[in-house]
Amino acid sequence: MSGKHSNLILALIVGGLVLAIGIVAVCTSMYGSDPANFGPTYERIIGVGDFFGQFFLRALRMIIVPLVLASIIVGISSLGDVRKIGGIGFRTLAFYMVTTSLAVGLGLLLVTTVQPGVGAEAALAAGANQAERAAQLADREEVTIGDVALSFLSPNIFAAFAEGDMLPIIVFSLFFGGILTTLGERGKPVLRFFEGLNEAMMKIIVLIMWLAPLGICGLVVAKFGAASMEPGGLKEMVSSVGKFSAVVIGGIAFHSIVTLPVLLWVLTKRNPFRYFLDLIPALLTAWSTSSSGATIPMTMECVVDRAGVDARAAGFVIPLGATVNMDGTAFYEAVAVIFIAQALGYPLGATEMILIFLTATFSSIGVAAIPQASLVMIMVILSQVGIPAENIAIILSVDWFLDRFRTVANVWGDSIGAAFVGKHV
Ligand code: ASP
Repeated sequence: MSGKHSNLILALIVGGLVLAIGIVAVCTSMYGSDPANFGPTYERIIGVGDFFGQFFLRALRMIIVPLVLASIIVGISSLGDVRKIGGIGFRTLAFYMVTTSLAVGLGLLLVTTVQPGVGAEAALAAGANQAERAAQLADREEVTIGDVALSFLSPNIFAAFAEGDMLPIIVFSLFFGGILTTLGERGKPVLRFFEGLNEAMMKIIVLIMWLAPLGICGLVVAKFGAASMEPGGLKEMVSSVGKFSAVVIGGIAFHSIVTLPVLLWVLTKRNPFRYFLDLIPALLTAWSTSSSGATIPMTMECVVDRAGVDARAAGFVIPLGATVNMDGTAFYEAVAVIFIAQALGYPLGATEMILIFLTATFSSIGVAAIPQASLVMIMVILSQVGIPAENIAIILSVDWFLDRFRTVANVWGDSIGAAFVGKHV
């Protein structure tokens, strides 16, 4: 997406949010002074908001399966023949896996300790149909470790595509993409097909983002409006979304200021502060574009020209990392899903936590490196643990803002990976 367009969309999203807050404020005061008369009108306004919100969410969900399939196949194939990836490839993948799991582990720890969603159940769930929720809770079956292991595979991959069952799709795409790289000339046309599919999906996401201002405005009116009809509900909701944002920003700061720099120092003996100064232009670009993909040229330039990392290592690690290595995104997915579960009063057991840990770690590979792409994957994980995906509405009012922080962590993680791999080539 060109910078001009993404800035316009951002301005429209912020405008939509301001409009939504204005609508809720005006309606709440009219409802407060005359609930009996204004009630039905307020409900109709909330219904209209909900319609626009659902329209936007459906558009996002529509593209999940082809997007993840194509993006993982293309990401893995950029490793070249997987039988020959050798030291650089293994080091890169090991670094990606370790840092991403550390980020997700931190997320689980923080969100279960701080519990930002607990205490606002009534307000946050106000828009949801209570009877439906009770039925969903009753229907949920106990998930065992064996189920988690089996959930990586599907007896029928086409059924998994049709049902949007993501773990088998991710596993299948990883293997399929890897095998394609070993087929030489015969694999190339298939890879080219998926490259084209991937590019088309990215373009479609950009188009869907034009719906975001109206969609987010609608969802905020629907969720905050419904909460404001409960006594004290609006206050509870704002404070819990605020706590969620604090957990996200605090956790990302810890991962970026402590975990990653310590790894940089231990693995490369580079001075993390000096490295950070070299990377500032890339990190600012990441913060302002919310896209690690759009930041790639800047990241390359900072890592190679300013920080002096080996250009071959950077040429491999940075573009691949922008596609598959997203510490901030994986962290955010885990925190967002558990926050939503807390807010709705859905109990999550140890096995569900393991499932969230694995899905967040692996699914971040399939998140596109563009603004707010995590939303798609959060909906996937919500369904995986038995929570209706439309509950993502709870976090939409702040997602565009938190996206900036997770994108910075994504780019910073890739840059540190490049320094680590660059030391060994
Ligand atoms: N905006 C993120 C990136 O480009 C992806 C996401 O988490 O939405 O890195």
